[in-house]
Amino acid sequence: MSSRLLRADDPAAIEAGARTLRDGGLVAFPTETVYGLGANAFDARAVARVFEVKARPSFDPLIVHLSEGSDLGRVVAGDDARVERLGARFWPGPLTLVLPRRPDLPDIVTAGLDTVGVRVPAHPAARALIRAAGTPVAAPSANPFGYVSPTTAEHVVELLGQAVDLILDGGPCGVGLESTIVSLAAPEPTLLRPGGVSREELEDALGASLVRAAAPAERPLAPGQLERHYATRTPLRILPGPAAPLPAGAGRVGLLAWSAAPRGRGYAAVEILAPDGRPTTAAAGLFAALRRLDAAGLDTIVAEPCPERGLGLAIMDRLRRSSARG
Ligand code: AMP
Ligand code: MG
Repeated sequence: MSSRLLRADDPAAIEAGARTLRDGGLVAFPTETVYGLGANAFDARAVARVFEVKARPSFDPLIVHLSEGSDLGRVVAGDDARVERLGARFWPGPLTLVLPRRPDLPDIVTAGLDTVGVRVPAHPAARALIRAAGTPVAAPSANPFGYVSPTTAEHVVELLGQAVDLILDGGPCGVGLESTIVSLAAPEPTLLRPGGVSREELEDALGASLVRAAAPAERPLAPGQLERHYATRTPLRILPGPAAPLPAGAGRVGLLAWSAAPRGRGYAAVEILAPDGRPTTAAAGLFAALRRLDAAGLDTIVAEPCPERGLGLAIMDRLRRSSARG
């Protein structure tokens, strides 16, 4: 099946996307984090196609997207005062909460867990699409499992174009990193994945510290935490500090630099993440820069580290997972 690419700011395109979702089809759509590959969360067959198209293992649960926080009761069971507080501050936005699920949500969405990950995306096209579809939308990132997430519609066309029924093009994603995932399923709020909302902001809103989830290998239930994920095909290594000029004869090495390229260079390709020094700029451009380096015919990519504060925690998390072997 070949897909149609339509502009996300066209109301007719949103209507076509909503119809496709209601009819059991798959729609790739922009969010402020990355592009999502959406299916009606209550249509188990449509959700099964999401897993098939992505070659995603069935033990990896999907995030359910709502157009309003007030729709939470359609997928979540029970009340939690912390949800009110976090939702009021961060929704719509890049925060996913893991909460006890309703039993009528198909098992395939949650990989059989008794919890569900939910969020209200901030992108107007995403919200309009979900609202028009009239159903919660289960959506992982619109890329083959394990690879770098898509932050433009072109990335989606390149990687999944033939397999998706409709792609809504809303331009580049503003945040550029996946949502932060916090589990409220246990008494202690737990950070499952750092992302677009910083740990510091969350702790401030909760008035409590977040427990960091155990090492990925010990928690196979949350595969966004898989050790190797968000990966380039070219081997990637994180440098211990700012890059030095490259000695001659090191092969074709590409550099992912923070705010400036080292003098003298010697690198076959250089991507500067944040010429303005701002972590938001670095986050927004990270995945596109990784793709360009991955397409540059390099032997190795080396990346400068950044301080693990604010968005820097999520950026370093993605770089580490991209650099993990096998
Ligand atoms: P992606 O949509 O590719 O960003 O992946 C979504 C990620 O959300 C999964 O890989 C899990 O790590 C996480 N997730 C979704 N639902 C749950 C849940 N019920 N419990 C724990 N983690 C979840
Ligand atoms: Mg993903």
